[in-house]
Amino acid sequence: MKYPEVRNYVAGNFVKGEHEYLDVYNPSDGSVISRVPLSSRDDVDRAVQVAQAAFPAWSTMPIKERVQVFFRYRALLERDIEELTALVTEENGKVYAEAKAEILKSMELTEFACSLPQIASGEVLEVSRGVECRIERFPLGVVASIAPFNFPAMVPLWFLPFAVATGNPIIVKPSEQVPLSQQVIFRLLEKCDLPPGVVSLVNGGREVVEGICDHPEIQAVSFVGSTPVARAVWRRATQAGKRVQALGGAKNFVVVMPDADWDRSIAVITESFYGCAGERCLAGSVLVPVGEAHREARDRMVESAKALKVGDGMESGVEMGPVISARHREKVLGYIEKGVDEGAKLVVDGRKTSVAGHEKGFFLGPTLFDDVKPSMAIGHEEIFGPVAAITPVQSLAEAIEVMHAHPNANATSIFTSSGKSAREFARLASASMVGVNIGVAAPMAYFPFGGAKDSFFGDLKVHGRDAYEFYTDKKVVISRWF
Ligand code: NAD
Repeated sequence: MKYPEVRNYVAGNFVKGEHEYLDVYNPSDGSVISRVPLSSRDDVDRAVQVAQAAFPAWSTMPIKERVQVFFRYRALLERDIEELTALVTEENGKVYAEAKAEILKSMELTEFACSLPQIASGEVLEVSRGVECRIERFPLGVVASIAPFNFPAMVPLWFLPFAVATGNPIIVKPSEQVPLSQQVIFRLLEKCDLPPGVVSLVNGGREVVEGICDHPEIQAVSFVGSTPVARAVWRRATQAGKRVQALGGAKNFVVVMPDADWDRSIAVITESFYGCAGERCLAGSVLVPVGEAHREARDRMVESAKALKVGDGMESGVEMGPVISARHREKVLGYIEKGVDEGAKLVVDGRKTSVAGHEKGFFLGPTLFDDVKPSMAIGHEEIFGPVAAITPVQSLAEAIEVMHAHPNANATSIFTSSGKSAREFARLASASMVGVNIGVAAPMAYFPFGGAKDSFFGDLKVHGRDAYEFYTDKKVVISRWF
């Protein structure tokens, strides 16, 4: 095994866990590729102690010097992009091109962190003759981030560069299902001249998360995962007096108007639903064709879903990898059964898909249901797998109503050649990331990322200027010199 055992990273050292371990799998063949420690509250506490000790010196270093770390770090990410990409594919299952896009996004996030001095350059106003009012920003203290399984490299980097560049030591808790990418990322960070304690890694599951939420010396928590856990983390950590941003699950509606440019749109729509095997919080989940777009939407989706090549993400030509685990595969299969039982029309059935030479992999083929009602489980609940639902409606207004009735509001898209429909849709959408002829409405690093309603708990979103706001507090200094 290349990575026989996952380590925590505390006080500038990789340290062995002393607790129970969980196996880590390669979803493409079901083999065990490592084991991860389920750390304890005491491990969280140890990381907090060293992070706190690092805080005074790190937080008072000028931001221009702090961001130098990320210039070095970005160069290392670029140098090791192939190794990191392969590792993301190995532990998560997504195909090589998708994994590479994840590392490129991580580089983009790092670049934006390098530019933070621009945002931090301040606000000052002469409020009356000789009297000046100045906003000063200061870091919060020790902060923490908690990640889901679907972006093992990138999601922790939604937070770490911004927290650290603004002067806050951070404790990272990766998903216990995909802890390997962060091992490599921390090895690279180790080469960037960070003082011990500024970045820490504590692996594990629920106990670590609860330890983070309850720890009195952690000032802010960034969580990404499913809605029930996001809500619980947000409640628990805000109760403990922390600043919290908690990103939850999604059920994303993709509306197709009869005037859509089908030839150019279909590949984009198919990728939205089945890319990363549907395990993306921005993935299309329900296709909502308006009026006569229904038949075309269904026929084209059937054709394109059936044509997708499923397999090991390391093999060239493969377009869709496995889902994350045997357990998740069972859960997604359960949804397909429910869809059939509830009377939706199964028009593409991925249940029997298997990949030669990878019989133990956690594969499922693209699956498509037509005539799905919003009240059905597959029309309502987050499946987080390669199962698409078609819910036909008669008008754009009805499509928007269907979206509004759903408690999640992460991302949504419209496919149309009408500027009027696109503008109306963007204005009325409940989701806060909106794509127009774009299947995965992912904001770039310089824009805020995050949903609304039950897809987001908190105020300030992820990256963009919000990251700077989230990781700093402000003072107003009013001064007059006689
Ligand atoms: P998850 O909620 O099961 O786990 C997320 C994190 O919480 C993990 O680190 C896990 O160890 C921890 N955790 C799990 N159960 C817990 C509990 N009971 N108490 C405390 N901590 C717990 O999510 P997942 O399955 O890893 O990831 C998939 C989910 O993440 C999907 O719902 C997806 O929509 C969501 N997601 C959302 C976004 C977004 O931007 N909104 C981005 C990526 C993923």
